[in-house]
Amino acid sequence: MFVDSHCHLEMESFSKDRDQIIKKSADEGLKYILTVGTEERYFGKVAEIVNGNPMVYGAIGIHPHNSKDFNKNVAETIRVSLKQRKFVGYGEIGLDFFKNYSPRDAQIKAFREQLAQAADEGLPIIVHSRNARTETLQILGEMYRKGSGGVIHCYSYDLETAKRLLDMGFYISIPGTITYRNAEEIAKVAGYIPDERILAETDAPFLTPHPHRGKRNVPYFVKLTIRRIAEIRRQETEALAAKMCENFVRLFLNNQEAPAE
Ligand SMILES: [Zn+2]
Ligand SMILES: [Zn+2]
Repeated sequence: MFVDSHCHLEMESFSKDRDQIIKKSADEGLKYILTVGTEERYFGKVAEIVNGNPMVYGAIGIHPHNSKDFNKNVAETIRVSLKQRKFVGYGEIGLDFFKNYSPRDAQIKAFREQLAQAADEGLPIIVHSRNARTETLQILGEMYRKGSGGVIHCYSYDLETAKRLLDMGFYISIPGTITYRNAEEIAKVAGYIPDERILAETDAPFLTPHPHRGKRNVPYFVKLTIRRIAEIRRQETEALAAKMCENFVRLFLNNQEAPAE
């Protein structure tokens, strides 16, 4: 059984065949999917999807790209929305100094405020961090003790950074880029993370793994990523996938009355 710990089923790229994609994911052996609403206009769709599909859980937060839209009203909408059943995480939140779609100071402010809010709600966080290694380590380093843990999604930094994040108690999620050529650094990280802290994800519809690059990504392509990680770690794919399911349940579903079977 497999888990896709991070994707975006609520996005428009899935509006025509969302139900078929979820059904096919179940047929392919996926047990859980976490879909992540990155801006306010998606929050309702996330609720609709998790309510209609036992295997899908939801997270919401304001993505660093949209940090300039974060304010008190949005924070209140998030607080209320997170009371819904099957909303199990706060995110994705963080810093993206690669695209810089929002000014850096707005990103830092939204990140800090949402970290505080996630801690108040007792929810694990989903962190997006790109080209912002120093600032991310600094902010998480100041705030992680108050929080309920979380995952660094779509991990893209080096092994030293991974060790520091693991020391803070975070899980690390490996994306499909590990199936590309020139993935030596991420392969080192994937080989190092302890069994109890590793997750994998598609970030669908983005970051499609080899050999489907160029096509839209879908949750069941996570199997290609997990197979590659297992190869690097010299583990059986099924055994590693089972560990990832346990990790996902421990991080996100422990407070749920009855995880879907
Ligand atoms: Zn992201
Ligand atoms: Zn994402």
